[in-house]
Amino acid sequence: MEKFDVAIIGAGAAGLFCAGVAGQLGLRVLLLDHAPKVAEKIRISGGGRCNFTNRELDPRQPHKHFLGDNPNFCRSALSRYTPADFIELLQRHAIPFHEKHKGQLFCDRSAQDLIELLLAECAAGGVQRWQPCAVQAVGYSDADPAERYQLQTDRGPVGCRSLVVATGGLSIPKIGASDFGFRLARQFGLDVVELRPALVPLTFDAAAWAPFAELSGLALPVRIATGEKKTKMEFLEDLLFTHRGLSGPAVLQISSYWRPGQPLRLDLHPESALEPLLLEAKARSRKLLANELALHLPSRLADTWTAQQPQWQRPVSDTPDKAIAQLAQGLQRWELTPTGTEGYAKAEVTAGGVDTRQLSSQTMESKQPGLHFIGEVVDVTGWLGGYNFQWAWSSAHACAQALAAD
Ligand code: FAD
Repeated sequence: MEKFDVAIIGAGAAGLFCAGVAGQLGLRVLLLDHAPKVAEKIRISGGGRCNFTNRELDPRQPHKHFLGDNPNFCRSALSRYTPADFIELLQRHAIPFHEKHKGQLFCDRSAQDLIELLLAECAAGGVQRWQPCAVQAVGYSDADPAERYQLQTDRGPVGCRSLVVATGGLSIPKIGASDFGFRLARQFGLDVVELRPALVPLTFDAAAWAPFAELSGLALPVRIATGEKKTKMEFLEDLLFTHRGLSGPAVLQISSYWRPGQPLRLDLHPESALEPLLLEAKARSRKLLANELALHLPSRLADTWTAQQPQWQRPVSDTPDKAIAQLAQGLQRWELTPTGTEGYAKAEVTAGGVDTRQLSSQTMESKQPGLHFIGEVVDVTGWLGGYNFQWAWSSAHACAQALAAD
């Protein structure tokens, strides 16, 4: 049996980072992953450039950018390893990056830079990485504290004092996602908060969507909202029409809060009210209403929307005020109820996960001694924009520090 201080299952963002830090703190670390390639999710993230953190993240107010049964659970880890700390690490490795929209930071060249950084940090910590290597079974016995956990793996048995589960969520199964972490949590009597795809495109009934399917590929800035009063969430972001429904940052963000059966409310012209603009045009313009509308919205959208009713297919000057009001209201208070999501095949993350009530926010250790959970497998879900990777770095760092202090 090979012996280590700690075995980490999952060589994604959280697992790699935790392994490097723990190794450099003097622990003998084994990192295992069943996928043939390391950190595939980092490689495909952020359109290949990895949006690795966000400057707007405020660790004192995690509920602003994170959801889960207890959004404040992540405060401690995020405060102790911040976006500035990760930026400093990138600078030490001379990796060029830039800021995009709303504090989002991306690699200038490619996400591969970040993967190499993580591998270099692991090498500096003397981490052993077994990949591909599956874990068939995990056992626990407290006879020998140095080997509390016994793993049966493709490469033989392993004994270790601590076990870190960094197997991520269910999103994108074709590059290695599995339910291993959730099954292991249940094996040790820990609860798992209901899982659901998040940061995911939403779909609609095919017949109801037919008039809009031809808008596929069209993008525009919108205001989007779901929920009422205390549960209301709203985003001002770009919307993308697809063949089956809606996507783009606006919908990905709202999807994390949307629950089946709830309507979405969309304002397709969030910068100002359309009704006065169209009424004003009525007094001076001979254009068709669709063409007048196209001065304010993409013309494909103006054409498709006005095609819905004969009263909107006239010159603006001949359109009754009431019909103009109805048109403006429809576009700015568009209420529609998705029938579902594109599922884990398209979701960027999995909401829900190992219940934070059973984890220490300081160490990521569970009620089961020596068993830690980090990254997306935990019931902590970030907004689009680098928040999920920052959670992976921060939770991994908190865990590694605790392992070394143990
Ligand atoms: P992962 O990175 O998913 O790593 C989990 C690892 O565990 C994988 O390597 C997997 O092979 C391994 N594993 C799973 N099951 C087993 C098993 N049974 N045995 C052994 N190993 C196992 N977030 C951002 O913040 N910014 C972005 O730009 C961004 N872009 C994204 C784009 C896409 C297309 C997707 C899908 C996600 C994106 N995310 C982004 C989310 C982000 O990738 C994840 O939140 C993050 O990777 C989670 O890190 P993790 O280490 O917890 O899990």
